[in-house]
Amino acid sequence: MAATGSGTPAAGCNCEEDWGLQELITRCQLASDFLIALAYFSIPLELVYFVSFSHVFPFRWVIIQFGAFIVLCGLTHFISIWTYGPRDKDLGPQERDVSFLIILAQTILKIATALVSCATAITLVHIIPELLHVKVRELFLKHKAAELDREMGIIKTQEEAGRHVRMLTHEIRSTLDRHTILNTTLVELVKTLNLENCTIWMPNAEGNALELTHELERRLVQVFPLTVSAADPTVQKIVRTSQAVVIEPNCELGKASNHRHLAGAMAAVRLPLLHVSNFKGGTPEVVSASYAILVLVLPGESGHRRTWRPHEIEMVEVVADQVAVALSHAAVLEDSQRTRDKLVEQNKALQQARQEAETAIRARNDFLAVMNHEMRTPMHAIIALSSLLHEGNLSSEQRGMVDTVVKSSSLLSTLINDVLDFSRLEDGSLHLEMQPFELPTVLREAGNLAKPMAKGKGLDFLFDVAADVPTYVIGDEKRLLQTMLNVIGNAVKFTKTGSVSVVVSLERLDGFVRRDPRNPGWCPVPCDGFVYIRIVVKDTGLGVRENDIPRLFQKFVQADSTTTRRYGGTGLGLALCKKFVQLMNGHIWIESEGLGKGSVVTFIVRLQRLSSSTSEIERPIWEENLNKATLQGLKVLVTDDNSVNRIVTRRLLDRLGCNTTVVESGHQCLAALSQPGSGFKVLLLDLCMPEMDGFEVAMQIKQKVRPEDRPLVVALTANTDKGTCDRCYQIGMDGVVLKPISLAEMSNTLCNLLQNLKSSSYGPHNGTVR
Ligand code: ADP
Repeated sequence: MAATGSGTPAAGCNCEEDWGLQELITRCQLASDFLIALAYFSIPLELVYFVSFSHVFPFRWVIIQFGAFIVLCGLTHFISIWTYGPRDKDLGPQERDVSFLIILAQTILKIATALVSCATAITLVHIIPELLHVKVRELFLKHKAAELDREMGIIKTQEEAGRHVRMLTHEIRSTLDRHTILNTTLVELVKTLNLENCTIWMPNAEGNALELTHELERRLVQVFPLTVSAADPTVQKIVRTSQAVVIEPNCELGKASNHRHLAGAMAAVRLPLLHVSNFKGGTPEVVSASYAILVLVLPGESGHRRTWRPHEIEMVEVVADQVAVALSHAAVLEDSQRTRDKLVEQNKALQQARQEAETAIRARNDFLAVMNHEMRTPMHAIIALSSLLHEGNLSSEQRGMVDTVVKSSSLLSTLINDVLDFSRLEDGSLHLEMQPFELPTVLREAGNLAKPMAKGKGLDFLFDVAADVPTYVIGDEKRLLQTMLNVIGNAVKFTKTGSVSVVVSLERLDGFVRRDPRNPGWCPVPCDGFVYIRIVVKDTGLGVRENDIPRLFQKFVQADSTTTRRYGGTGLGLALCKKFVQLMNGHIWIESEGLGKGSVVTFIVRLQRLSSSTSEIERPIWEENLNKATLQGLKVLVTDDNSVNRIVTRRLLDRLGCNTTVVESGHQCLAALSQPGSGFKVLLLDLCMPEMDGFEVAMQIKQKVRPEDRPLVVALTANTDKGTCDRCYQIGMDGVVLKPISLAEMSNTLCNLLQNLKSSSYGPHNGTVR
């Protein structure tokens, strides 16, 4: 390392040149040594700096040794600088001492360098295995770091996939339409997993095959749907497990899902299709559901072929579950929509049916109203005129005949009312007219009417009223008489030979009497002030079959379909009787031992017993006398378009002593009323008139006639329905009179009106409605 000495000029001809060259070499060496020494000194400084700042470096000692070695090398070179000078023989003794010292120092430094370098070499021999070990660990760590990076990548991918699944689930669940759900699933799965294709196969109606129903790219419209048998082994493999399955691309399902022949690896998963019935009673636990199949196809690029990774398979399974849930919700919605549509249809049908029923009811009401009017108008004439005739001078024979006409027409009128009012009976709006009457008289009347009928057929007729039957009672005598006549009439009608007997008795409440064998639970309820009357009508006639008995009290039912032809009748009588008897808190039943063995009809009705024997009954007579006095000279205006009715009503009013004026239209009526000083107290106004009907006339009177000149307005109508009556009162009429009307009824009606006027309390509820 160190230079060994300085050069001297060579002997010969170019000594000067040689000397110059040597001098140059020496200077170069000197400079080099200086620079080497500087470099050597700088290296330990850097090492010291490194060691002082490196806390973890394990080989400090070696570095220090190495540093010392370098410093010593540097010093050796540094000392060499002083060796470049004149040769020893050219030096003085003092300079020779210095040169010796330099050589000594150089030697010492060389020895020290040799030692340190040997020590460093030995140390390095020891630390090389350690260094190699460090290297191995470093490689191991590098490997581990790479692995960690990979795992981090997977975690990130999974996180990404999870995010996609959440988004996908959100997309799928945001709709409840089956097709949107499936299409969204396809689109989102393809996007998330970067698929080549994705298909959905739905089970067909028979359940024996799966049809391709949804696909990412729609194929050209297939003439026949693309199907795969449900028995296909791959299909079976998929539906047997809830996990996603990797399938062979060349299986039936794979081939059908790979129409562009670019496909790579394929996976499939089942989609359970739950039906609404599966949810009845909560979440289904075990259901025999049918399955759709979702097939996912990876791209099949040449070279690097992608395979299904576990997290992708997991994701497909999660998506399949979500799709199944969304489809089940859609199924619930579809079902409820179907139900709603069905309900809408049913509602429409019901609406239609209701409209038809309303039309039918309107038609029936119109028919009833017309019939009411058409039948009652002649009946009105017969009843009114015969009651007038009755008042005239007649021989006893004529009086008897007129009596019969009056009674029969009154009965006929009642019957017409009953038939036409049957609907009122059914909806419960018909009420009994309770008034005091003599029970034996009514019973006798029934007997007197029936007897000639029985006798006319050559039948024995027995009529017996027990002595304990009360005389004075309160009830609806007309309905009672009607019921009796109906039952007795049937007995006579259905009996050819033999007898008909009618026995009327007071019902015993002790239970020792015959009850209805079909309804043994019914028995009279004891009630203070009331009595039960038992009427038993027995005949030896046609009789009734056991099976027919329960039906006979239904309307329009006859035991035998030929009955009407042979005996007449409508099948309405017993139904009416039952209603009336029920209104009288009673019961009616029929018994027969069979055809040809006669029948027994029993009915029990409740009547109120009258404690004061005569006062109540005599009242009508007292009232009649009072009426005559009250109605004398009363100014009444009659407005009716029907000439017969006008005559009849006028005659009735004349007979009552009224001062009657008759007009035939609404206009004439208004004109009559507006004449100064007309002074009419009562206006009898027919409701059914052409041009201006009674309602219109009543309203005009209210508007045009001064209150003090306004008469009491009484509607004359043949219309029995409640609506007509209500309307009359709504527009401010004072009373309603139902045609036909007898003299007595007309008298009572007018008197009641006037009485109410006096007490100023007449109105809808006090008006006269029959
Ligand atoms: P109608 O007498 O108008 O046919 P009802 O309602 O009064 O109608 O009677 C219904 C049916 O009951 C009759 O058609 C008849 O078959 C049967 N019936 C009623 N009373 C008798 C009876 N006394 N004897 C035999 N059958 C009867």
